Amino acid sequence: MRLVLLGGPGSGKGTQADVLKKKYNVAKLSTGDLLRGEISNNTKLGKQAKSYMDNGELVPDSVMISILDKKTTEFEEKKQGYILDGFPRTVPQAEALLEMLKKQGVTLTMALLIDVPKHELVRRLSSRWTCKNCSATTFKDPDGNSVVCPQCGGELYQRDDDKRETILNRMKVYKKNTQPLIAFFEEKGLLEEVNGFGSFEEISGRIINLFNEKDIK
Ligand code: AMP
Repeated sequence: MRLVLLGGPGSGKGTQADVLKKKYNVAKLSTGDLLRGEISNNTKLGKQAKSYMDNGELVPDSVMISILDKKTTEFEEKKQGYILDGFPRTVPQAEALLEMLKKQGVTLTMALLIDVPKHELVRRLSSRWTCKNCSATTFKDPDGNSVVCPQCGGELYQRDDDKRETILNRMKVYKKNTQPLIAFFEEKGLLEEVNGFGSFEEISGRIINLFNEKDIK
């Protein structure tokens, strides 16, 4: 399986990728998690990426494409299926991905859009908290009580880019740069869609049904 997950920020791509990773025994590559790891380790790449991320802007295509080239080559060497969460984010990244796969002699299984309306994305992001330990996300307790990570019990924090002004910019960036990928993959006959409204179990169920229909294992 070589899968691209598409959807706005807060559409549940990361959470669904975690479910699919376990069920289908594939790797998950989240470019956002990868970049946040580089920032906390204070690497050259982390320093380069930080100001873009803090402002809700995209890290330059050339940087992202070279990371992906390296990672997808490693997956093929290990014969490891994978799910991409957060890449591609622009048409040039999508073109580069298909080119990379062609060079590797393989094809993309599917680009799967988790479809969630914009007002719901903004609502989810403004109450989203992330685990310091395992990067899982959860929602703030409506009573304001502190909560711990539902997956590992780790401490939660609010990502700098989940603050209100940055969220609005991320939505604009998504609309301008990433939304065109829906038409891009549709033209190539690679796009599938699931309704992203509902509980995370309902959404996983829809994805798994779709995979069963398409005989994806
Ligand atoms: P995410 O965790 O996927 O919401 O990504 C957080 C931030 O990381 C984004 O707002 C971008 O600044 C950066 N980022 C992640 N993936 C990419 C990508 N494929 N291209 C450019 N920037 C990215």
